[in-house]
Amino acid sequence: MKDKTPIGAVMVIGGGIGGMQASLDLAESGFFVYLLDTSPTIGGVMAQLDKTFPTNDCSMCIMSPKLVETGRHLNVRILAHAEIDQVEGETGHFEVTVVKKPRYIHADRCTGCGECAKHCPVSTTDTYNEKMSRRPAIYLRYPQAVPKVFLIDREKCIGCGLCERVCLAKAINYGDRLEKEKIAVGSIILAPGYEVFDARLRPEFGYGTFANVVTSLEFERLLSATGPHRGHLLRPSDGTIPERIAFIQCVGSRDTGVGNPYCSSICCMYATKEAIIAKEHDPNVKPTIFYIDIRSFGKGFEPYIERAQKEHGVRYIRCMVSSVKEAPGSRNLRLSYVTFPESQGGRPVIHEEEFDLVVLSVGLRPSRETREMAKRLGLSLNEFGFIETDPYNPAATSLPGVFVAGSFAEPKDIPESVIEASCAAAQVSALLAEGRGSLTRTPEYPPERDVSNEPERVGVFICHCGINIGSVVNVPEVVEYARRL
Ligand code: SF4
Ligand code: SF4
Ligand code: SF4
Repeated sequence: MKDKTPIGAVMVIGGGIGGMQASLDLAESGFFVYLLDTSPTIGGVMAQLDKTFPTNDCSMCIMSPKLVETGRHLNVRILAHAEIDQVEGETGHFEVTVVKKPRYIHADRCTGCGECAKHCPVSTTDTYNEKMSRRPAIYLRYPQAVPKVFLIDREKCIGCGLCERVCLAKAINYGDRLEKEKIAVGSIILAPGYEVFDARLRPEFGYGTFANVVTSLEFERLLSATGPHRGHLLRPSDGTIPERIAFIQCVGSRDTGVGNPYCSSICCMYATKEAIIAKEHDPNVKPTIFYIDIRSFGKGFEPYIERAQKEHGVRYIRCMVSSVKEAPGSRNLRLSYVTFPESQGGRPVIHEEEFDLVVLSVGLRPSRETREMAKRLGLSLNEFGFIETDPYNPAATSLPGVFVAGSFAEPKDIPESVIEASCAAAQVSALLAEGRGSLTRTPEYPPERDVSNEPERVGVFICHCGINIGSVVNVPEVVEYARRL
């Protein structure tokens, strides 16, 4: 007779902030977790963000403790650079076939030293920096990546053999092959995240035609200390500091013309954050946000918009932007927009204004790969490609035992994605309660020794990156003070 006890393991699909939260919640409560990501590393889009709203905290500072904890957890196995092939079985007893794509590196030998990348003669576009910088064919997606294992981009690699010669760990494996593995789990959580709208589908804004029109995600990378200009905000055409920056809202959202009539819910807030941070980079920056409506519905969001206006001088203009064109004789950009002032009886008034840089606040939608994966699993999607959920049970999908978290259900910000991930993990742990603890391992620590008679040794770790700390605390003085303790 078939064992009715549910399998005490869970597959979490998507290693962004939601997927990591769900994995850690489950692993800490007695379930073994397989955390799968199509990317060679976990972290998702949050790893590309510079700061987060409404606190302006460094995105990586918030995320890296979770990255490290997930990467080191005894009961989390990361399956990076992998895809779901098929899922069979039923709630409590699924069999997931996973396809692991080759890295051309022995993951168990690579120390992440980076010596190979220093010698690789290939230079290709870096997708982590949204193609605004270059990387070698052998690479790590970003400096804090988990797992810290390099991979070779075979499409770009010329096969010179240099990396193999310099790798002391003997980690290069040119003969690596695609592998399939069947994994038994009791439940599945989908947290695959989103992709941003392709701004080329709104050609009137000039993206892909004019160098100084960038997407909001590209702008995040331009602001970031690990970005293409190492945290210096420079415009793409000539490397000068852009002072007049325009943000155009609702690009690819609330737009029936491109099939996305929904509000993407986060872009009013992230544009405000990007405007504030741009001004922190250079006080001469004059940001203007061209909006239709401001959707600031979360905790602390409305005061954040008010502070942006009053303390940082961000200008908000309610209007419809009709076109972006390059100004004759320069790479600057001319925006044409229409306002409907009450003083004019609501009649349209056409304006034109010149800017150094235009940022398109692009909307969110599930990627094609995500939608195809969901269809292979037999899950129902709504007309916009998001997964169908029950309004009274938002983590549940149309398949029993399969749950969802984050922006695959609808566009969502980081805190909401994290809360939903914990919600999905709680539902899974109730469903698989009988299998709890059946597959997990307990960490073994070295025996404790008595140190009461030894001299005290204190480690002090002081971070001085960015301006969040450096603008408030005199870090060199703290270092000197700590030295004397
Ligand atoms: Fe270092 Fe070898 Fe890994 Fe490259 S492949 S990072 S050289 S251990
Ligand atoms: Fe770079 Fe490929 Fe040569 Fe290695 S073999 S150094 S990845 S080009
Ligand atoms: Fe437009 Fe703001 Fe909604 Fe984004 S959040 S689609 S910018 S209204």
